[in-house]
Amino acid sequence: MRVGVNESPLPEIRPRESSSERRREGHEERPQWPSGKRFALCLTHDVDRVDKRWWQCAYYFLKRRDLYQVRSLFTKGRERPYWNFEDIMDIERRNGVRSTFFFLNETKKGNLLKPSTYPLAFGYYDIHDPRIVEVIRALDSGGWEIGVHGSYDSYLSGTLLATEKAVLERVLGKAVLGVRQHHLNLSVPRTWELQKEVGFKYDSTFGYRDRVDFRDDKYHPFRPLNDGFLELPMAIMDGPLFQTSGSSEEAWGRCKGLIEQAESRGGLLTVLWHNNRFNDKEFPGQAAIYERIIRACLDRGAWVATGDKIYRWCRACGPTVGR
Ligand SMILES: [Zn+2]
Repeated sequence: MRVGVNESPLPEIRPRESSSERRREGHEERPQWPSGKRFALCLTHDVDRVDKRWWQCAYYFLKRRDLYQVRSLFTKGRERPYWNFEDIMDIERRNGVRSTFFFLNETKKGNLLKPSTYPLAFGYYDIHDPRIVEVIRALDSGGWEIGVHGSYDSYLSGTLLATEKAVLERVLGKAVLGVRQHHLNLSVPRTWELQKEVGFKYDSTFGYRDRVDFRDDKYHPFRPLNDGFLELPMAIMDGPLFQTSGSSEEAWGRCKGLIEQAESRGGLLTVLWHNNRFNDKEFPGQAAIYERIIRACLDRGAWVATGDKIYRWCRACGPTVGR
């Protein structure tokens, strides 16, 4: 399995810039985002799990030695720690922004004798569960975007990608444009070719698993296949952000640095925050950092948009490949 192996430089697309602006900025190309916005923020959520099972509590207790995991065993039924859609919607509504939710339809088979397979095969949800169908439709009607979170093996399977896209589209009642692969599994360029073949318009898998940064210095959306198919590179993911930060302030400092980079380059900052991270008991202070990112970007004049809106904007920008 390869993750974003970079065999050759990938062409970036940049929205048109005016010649006067180019002169003023010397060699620096300045993208023009809609309505004169200075840079773009794309908010995304990968929906891996919506319920917490007893064995997950045990698994994470053993892994993290976190007593909350044991306590949450005994609040089962009264508390649904990972069902945080309303919290996410509230945060975004009060800031006047919307995000993209990538929903998973995992079908990988686990082996009960091999605990290492548990996290990849068990504890997921049924995309046809009435609660999931209801929340997908509520998000869609409220202006949020719904995309496919490609299952673990789908990054090398056109059949799985096509099935997962078709199933989600039946639930949603309309076409799905975007995809992000589970675990950021990405074989370059095969995964992008497969995604395009089955009809996706953009992907947002290109990012680091173990740190927060602009992977391979990709500050803008780019066209990995030299055609209309678009990559929205992902720079901030919750897991590595907090794993590599000693405190909330340190995590925030990293985010602030990346916001400043995106702003100074007129680029795109894509943020991935899993839905379970909005459980403040298990992940204290993390939802607050998410909101702080939104507010800081809005204060700095960012265009905050869902993946499909960024795709449509870039498509309208015309042929700017490889400049
Ligand atoms: Zn995932």
